[in-house]
Amino acid sequence: MSIESYLRAAPKAELHVHLEGAIRPATLLTLAERNGVALPADNVEDLRRWFTYRDFPHFAEIYVTITRCLKTADDYELIAYEYGAELARQNARYAEVTFTPATHALRFGVTHNTYFGQLRRPAAVQHDAERRSGAAAQAVQPGRGLHRRHSAQRRAAQLPAAPS
Ligand SMILES: [Zn+2]
Repeated sequence: MSIESYLRAAPKAELHVHLEGAIRPATLLTLAERNGVALPADNVEDLRRWFTYRDFPHFAEIYVTITRCLKTADDYELIAYEYGAELARQNARYAEVTFTPATHALRFGVTHNTYFGQLRRPAAVQHDAERRSGAAAQAVQPGRGLHRRHSAQRRAAQLPAAPS
């Protein structure tokens, strides 16, 4: 087995990922167009280059720009679904995904029901993805993460063995 095949097949855990930062550049283009938000690039290649952080202010600029592009329940569902699919593609068996409601609500006026409603709606999708991939993903929300992490750890402990 080549090192590349091994790395692809190895089970992985994502211990700290921000859902907003995990958005695919192509999806960001789609959402920006759908919601009338100007981006610093109009194609995936240039957007991928822009995603490479130069420093903290640049990181914050990217984060705020992405957040500005998320307006509807469907937008939140799309990024949650795509991130789940990416976890399965990379054989990630466990993920702790964080999300910052305050930015979405206080800065851009997105309602609590819009984002949490949709981040919960993919439950059926999540169960299907877990059944097919053996992966477990949990959303870790500020102040509510510990219990959910413990549940996820219990579930992660029950996952099948890695492919050989
Ligand atoms: Zn972080």
